[in-house]
Amino acid sequence: MNDHEHYDLIVIGGGPIGLSTAWQAARRGDTKVLVLEQYGFLNERTGTSGSERHWRLQYTQRDIFALTLETLPLWHELERLAGRRLIHAVGSLWFGDVEVETNEGHIAETARAMDEMSVPYEWLTARDIENRYGFTNLPRHYEGFLQRDGGSIDVRGTLAALFQLSQEHGALLRANEPVLEVAPDTGGVTVRTARTTYRADKVVLANGGHVNDITRSWGVSLDVSLFEMALVSYRQRADAERPFWFAFQQPTEEDTNLFYGFPPNPWASDNEVRLGPDFEVNPLRHASEATGIPDPRHVERVTDWVTAHMPWADPEPVQTSTCLAVLPADPSRQFYLGTAAGLVDGGENVVVSTAGWGFKFVPLWGEICADLALKGATRHDIGRHALAQGVPAGSAA
Ligand SMILES: Cc1cc2nc3c(=O)[nH]c(=O)nc-3n(C[C@H](O)[C@H](O)[C@H](O)COP(=O)(O)OP(=O)(O)OC[C@H]3O[C@@H](n4cnc5c(N)ncnc54)[C@H](O)[C@@H]3O)c2cc1C
Repeated sequence: MNDHEHYDLIVIGGGPIGLSTAWQAARRGDTKVLVLEQYGFLNERTGTSGSERHWRLQYTQRDIFALTLETLPLWHELERLAGRRLIHAVGSLWFGDVEVETNEGHIAETARAMDEMSVPYEWLTARDIENRYGFTNLPRHYEGFLQRDGGSIDVRGTLAALFQLSQEHGALLRANEPVLEVAPDTGGVTVRTARTTYRADKVVLANGGHVNDITRSWGVSLDVSLFEMALVSYRQRADAERPFWFAFQQPTEEDTNLFYGFPPNPWASDNEVRLGPDFEVNPLRHASEATGIPDPRHVERVTDWVTAHMPWADPEPVQTSTCLAVLPADPSRQFYLGTAAGLVDGGENVVVSTAGWGFKFVPLWGEICADLALKGATRHDIGRHALAQGVPAGSAA
């Protein structure tokens, strides 16, 4: 064992959560941190492809809502250190059937949560939304709200900032080094890669949709589902200030019937709006099954939505792509975040972060992973996200 390179902390996965963890751990000083990434850093091949993500304060679940409020100052700190704006508050508009339950939340209950949390919002009818933002043919019973602090997060700017800051604080970042095995014991963790074997006091597993490639050797899998989600760009015909929007609709027999869209990014020069269907259908058995080619039926469904409701966008797709969504199979969960204690002997030395719509939490998840690894505890309420027992290896994606 003594021959192996030794680190205080090894982070597996160099996506946003892994890099944020490395930054938060390395900045504490006296902590030797190594990040191992199977591809290149800032790759577009995993759960973080694309240029933007939705930032929102509002959540239906009060404990998760509290976490967004705790994340915002960390985003501001990251922006200050990086010297660039990362969250662009173009507004977050939720509208549709206010009683429909979705994985994004529930409009009416979220409005009650915002009242309780004293987060301001404006309630809008279908007619208000049409008049103000140019949507057409919305069903008359649709309503919703605009929360002005929400908006778009600059994904590539965030990754570049975290990459630079973690290196400045002395974290070692190694690309093209896939981890093959993580073997915890009571004294630490042995990490075997395609190149060599390392030893660490603690490991943070932040490898997104590949999490079960590692846990499988412990005899368990986290119960996650993988979906290859489509993203479609359309040219905007007329400029106007529009927010990020999410349409909450009753599911059809075919899919969840949920659509979202981003206005042109304030940090980019193109005039394109990007839409996605939030359809949890046709799960993949493994991340390696992702093709990078969107399901043509999903592109057609988004285009039909644009044609029906967005006269200000040309309904001819300009570009299509996909992104791998990793979600807890249990819809009452939103994330997996906690130690692997109880999953494997020595699991208290491994922290796992995976699954969920987690980009908005990148600075906080990094702080929490670093705290759990280096201090053994966090001051944030993450009880809901604790790793459950897991399911027998092989029975989840
Ligand atoms: C279509 C879509 C829309 C989304 N919209 C939103 C949104 O609006 N708001 C929001 O908050 N979130 C959103 N999300 C979720 C968000 O993008 C993810 O939560 C986040 O990007 C995941 O980051 P990560 O670091 O956990 O994982 P990843 O970015 O997947 O990074 C994991 C890294 O680990 C590496 N890796 C894997 N296995 C190994 C191994 N064995 N050895 C070494 N390296 C390994 C991978 O190569 C990868 O680079 C969306 C996701 C999708 C797919």
